[in-house]
This record gives sequence, C-alpha cells and structure tokens, in this order.
Amino acid sequence: MKFQTAEPFRIKMVEKVRRTTKEERLKYLKEAQYNAFRLKAEDVYIDCLTDSGTSAMSNEQWSALMLGDESYAGCKSFYKFEASVKDILGLPYVQPTHQGRAADFIMAQIYAKKGKYAIGNMHFDTFRGNAEMLGALAVDYVIEKGANANNEYHPFKGNIDLAKMQRLIEEKGKENISVVIVTITCNNNGGQPVSMENIREVSKLAKKYNIPMVLDSARLAENAYFIQQREEGYRNKSIKEITREMFSYCETATMSSKKDGLVNIGGFLATRNKEVFEIANQLAIVHEGFITYGGMAGRDMEALAVGLQEVCEEDYLAYRINQVNYLGNKLKEFGIPIIEPTGGHGVYVDGRRFFPNIPQHEFPSQRLVVALYEEAGVRAVELGACAFGSKDPITREPIWPELETMRIAISRRVYTNSHMDVIANALGYIYQNRNNYKGLKLIYEGNITSLRHFTAGFALL
Ligand SMILES: *Cc1c(COP(=O)(O)O)cnc(C)c1O
Repeated sequence: MKFQTAEPFRIKMVEKVRRTTKEERLKYLKEAQYNAFRLKAEDVYIDCLTDSGTSAMSNEQWSALMLGDESYAGCKSFYKFEASVKDILGLPYVQPTHQGRAADFIMAQIYAKKGKYAIGNMHFDTFRGNAEMLGALAVDYVIEKGANANNEYHPFKGNIDLAKMQRLIEEKGKENISVVIVTITCNNNGGQPVSMENIREVSKLAKKYNIPMVLDSARLAENAYFIQQREEGYRNKSIKEITREMFSYCETATMSSKKDGLVNIGGFLATRNKEVFEIANQLAIVHEGFITYGGMAGRDMEALAVGLQEVCEEDYLAYRINQVNYLGNKLKEFGIPIIEPTGGHGVYVDGRRFFPNIPQHEFPSQRLVVALYEEAGVRAVELGACAFGSKDPITREPIWPELETMRIAISRRVYTNSHMDVIANALGYIYQNRNNYKGLKLIYEGNITSLRHFTAGFALL
C-alpha cells in the first residue's frame, strides 16, 4: 500500500491547454480590467477559478450518457438517479434541478422568511442572494477559529458555534429563526469540514426549538472523508455509512452536482418531509421542469447517478484530499501563508499576510490573482475584499470582510501534481518579490455589491 500514492486512474483522453507569453497575458489582463472572471478560458494554462462543473468524467459516466432516457415524464434515467441519491443520503424524496442554485431557490422559498433569521456556518452566496431577496436575515455563525484565514489547527473549522446559535434563538425568540443551514464542506473559509458531532448537536438544538435544519451539501463526500479521517469513532465506517448518518440529522438537503456529483451540470433537493417535497415539486414545475427531470437531460441524470457512487470511493477521496494537501505543503515550503489545515477542494492563500503592504481597500488577494495569472497563466479567484465586501445599507460606506483570501480551486480528476508544482513555483517567485507589488483600484462594480466580483473592473495602482 505504501507505494500506491499516485492517481487511482489512468488517462484515456486529453484536452490540450495553451501556453501564452507574459506579454500576451499582460494584454489579456488589461482587456479584462484585471478581473479573472473576464479572461477567456482558452488563454488560461491551469484553471483554478472554480471546482464547479469542471470535473473529468470517468469512462463509466461517459458510457452511461448513452443510456439517457429523454422521455418527459417518468424517464428511466430519473429512477436511476433517484436510487443513487437515496443510497447515499438516505432521504426518501428527491427533486432534480438544473443547478445547485435552483435547489437553493426552492429551499429559500420554503425555509427563508421575511424579517426572520437563517442561521448558517457560512452561507453560500447563492443561498444568501435568494434569502436576501426574500427579506430574510442570513447570519454566519462559524466557530471563531474558522472565521479568518489563520493557520491555527482545528480539525473542523466549518463547525457552527453552538453557544452563539443558542444565544440568538433565546434573544430573538424561536419564532424568529426560520431555518438553520449547515454547508458541508464550508466553502467560504477554505473548504473546511463540519464534524458529525457538530451536525448532530446543531440538529438537536434546532429540534429543541422546532427549527428545521437543512444541509447544503455540494461537497458531501469530501466532508464525509474528513470525518472518517479525523473524528473519533469513524475510522472504520464506510463513506456511505458516514453520509447517511450526516443526512439522518437534517430535514432537507440541497446539492450542487457540479462539485461532488462529478458531472458538469445539475443539482437536486432531497427531503424527508412530504409536504416540503410537494411544494418543491410545484416550484420545480414552474421554474425548472417536470418533477422527474427538473431541468436535467436524462443523460445527465445517468452520469450523475454514476458520479455520486464514484465520489464515495475511498481511493478517489484519498487521492483528492491528498492532492489539495500536496499543493498546500508546497506553498508552506515557500513560507506562503495559507489557511491551515488545507480543506477539501482548494488551497486558500491569506492575502493580508502575503501582501502586508497592500491595505484591504486596495484588494491584496485580487492583486495576487492578477500576479499569478501574469507570471504563470494560472487562474485563481479572490474571496476577500471584492467578493465578500458589502456596504452599509444606510450610509453606503464600505464594510470590509474578515476573510481576505485567494482560493486556488482544484478541479476533480483534471490536473496532475506537476500542475500543482507549476502553481507553487509561480507563487513562490511572487512571494519572494512581494515588496514590488502595489494594490488595485476598483473602477466598476455594478448595483448588487454581493455579486460584484463576477463583473468588477480594476486598475493597477
Ligand atoms: C456551488 C454551490 C452552490 C450553487 O450551485 P450551482 O450548481 O453553482 O448553481 C450552492 N451551495 C454550495 C455549497 C455550493 O458549493
């Protein structure tokens, strides 16, 4: 076993990537107003913008596509997909949607209420957007050690602070808390896992006050793997035993299949509450499609049915989590400050500690994204002043976030550790020259501050 540390697959098909010169990249950056979302993918050498919808499918998934039953109602592919979801989540009712955010939309319509609180560890931005449009108050109650980009060890930095949750319920009254949502893993602070104990205790506390609990579970298998590796009593449990226990504590779950579904599109909502399911069916019919396809092609449900099984294989998960950790360790060798321990789907570099001379209002993490593309054609994403910054609703004064990071998201089964080396060496070079960099100025942001990172424009200072 000791020698078997390589990828648990071999490569059957390849996709060429193009190398560019630094002069070309400087031109592309200028045209994109220094926003990585506005670069063309073909001008990117290694794309770490996101792990969403970028997975490589297996030969089994590609052959499953051919089995797609494209009937409107009751297609065979739906029942295969449904059986696969039930097998892993153990929840009886499953509504497919075209993406995770559509499941978030349906979930928000059911569980978010105007003027009432939605407690989360850290809400994902698509749920937050949906909740805020409904006038709900989405609050992030992740434990203190998970609230910033530090390197202090905690095995489950995605956990909810139970005392804080209890305090809010007591202060505001249980009737003013409409839902508790636990995101597994917690993307915003590093793909950090939530422990089984925390999921269980949050559920117990919520139940005591009759508040429904939801799992936002895009990265459910990665979370289960961390529980197996790090939590007392789970070392000998299978990934599926762990996922089923996780979901046994919630009423409803949403999923973006573009992550741990190992497919390029899709999502779903699953629940144990029949009434919730019936409302979800109706919302799906209006917004997504009939209840047995919900915006997905039969062939995509086939590939997802297979992907959900593959993602629970321990060999795959060990490779996956180790690759992320491999990149993290390389960066640490260069002295680069990252969130530690590394999480499930990427390495998060602390922009503040990397560029201590660039103040937060000059977007240090975004500057790092620009430098990384400029030097190596590698595209990462800012999760900091631009993405998480907000404005005071009355004075419109900017509010700067606690987290200030650059996320290097690693796509599933796509890149090798040689690619990780390129990223690490480029960042090492930038870090050695960190005093030569100045910040950025925001020159365009659009109306909705919480979505500005997708379209923002910057100028070099
Ligand atoms: C990606 C994601 C979503 C949104 O899903 P899409 O498929 O991108 O629409 C919602 N919640 C979490 C936790 C996610 O990671």
